[in-house]
Amino acid sequence: MIPFNNFKLHYQDLKSVTDNAINRVMDSGWYVLGKEVEAFENEFARYLNVKYCVGVASGTEAITLALMANNIGRGDEVITTNVTAFPTITGIVQAGAKPVVVDVFEEDGLIDFTKIISKINIRTKGIVPVHLYGQSCDMDAIMKIAKQYNLCVIEDCAQATGATYKNEKCGTIGNCGTFSFYPTKNLGAYGDAGAITTNSEETYVKLLSLRNYGQTKKYHHDFNGINSRLDELQAAILRAKLPFIEHWNKKRAQIASYYKEHLKGVTFIKENEYGQSVHHLFVIKVANRDHFLEYLNNNGVAALIHYPIPVHKQNAFLYQKSEKLSASVIFTSDIISLPIYPELSEKNLQKIVATINKYEI
Ligand SMILES: *Cc1c(COP(=O)(O)O)cnc(C)c1O
Repeated sequence: MIPFNNFKLHYQDLKSVTDNAINRVMDSGWYVLGKEVEAFENEFARYLNVKYCVGVASGTEAITLALMANNIGRGDEVITTNVTAFPTITGIVQAGAKPVVVDVFEEDGLIDFTKIISKINIRTKGIVPVHLYGQSCDMDAIMKIAKQYNLCVIEDCAQATGATYKNEKCGTIGNCGTFSFYPTKNLGAYGDAGAITTNSEETYVKLLSLRNYGQTKKYHHDFNGINSRLDELQAAILRAKLPFIEHWNKKRAQIASYYKEHLKGVTFIKENEYGQSVHHLFVIKVANRDHFLEYLNNNGVAALIHYPIPVHKQNAFLYQKSEKLSASVIFTSDIISLPIYPELSEKNLQKIVATINKYEI
């Protein structure tokens, strides 16, 4: 079986650098919010070319904290996409705000920004565009709406570390960018981890406090925050891995090109010319998807669906049940994700392509 991801191989390739980082932290005797977190925040901010970065416990809480830092919470509405990892919604709900979803473009699954304005009302405070599968949303279009209606923009970059929009890195364009370093992401820790980026000093200072129970200096609490700290071990591991991110993203791009060149009889997700995807996932569209998925899994290729159910059809999402959002429904019933990771061998890549090209409906 060709696995969907191979974390053992990934770790083996990095064993000496990550083990050094882990040992350095263990020997230091300091495990939460210390030198490693601060150094990672600086290095990650420099990599993205953004002024500030704040390390937090997960990508979900990064969204929550970014909203809190921009005074968005109870009574407020936040517009996001109907096709995303559900934690985008979790992050909004956790901040106390009401998520409002809009349909997607059928060609790429990204938020259909032309549907945003019809959802704006007096309670609307923010937009959370999701750079799905590693590809940037059309940020000019979204920022224009945000400016016109005075809305805050939080870019969900959980799948897009290193992706660009018109030569700027995702997570540097809106008011904040939120990142996840969950092990499956392009830049993954060995546990849960996340970060928030911003160019606003005021937001940065508030975030430092909000992630640490609203503490402004020791035992002084000016805000009601949460506990969402990045720990020293994960920060040190991320520091060890950050220098490889461009190399890994390049490898992913090569695999994506190979698929596009050699796969027959499938539809590809449209790649937008305004930015560079980091190919967090390689998603294709096929007719009779569930049958195709079964065929792949029976023939030695692990494939998954990201995501089988649009947000408005999830049991936990209590709103917009009567809305059609038909592009999301069609999109999520046709998509399938193929293995794509830097450690995927050429031999296995060829095998996946051959298996798919042999498929007959
Ligand atoms: C993974 C992911 C998240 C959540 O990140 P965690 O670190 O798992 O909390 C949020 N949004 C998107 C789009 C994701 O892919």
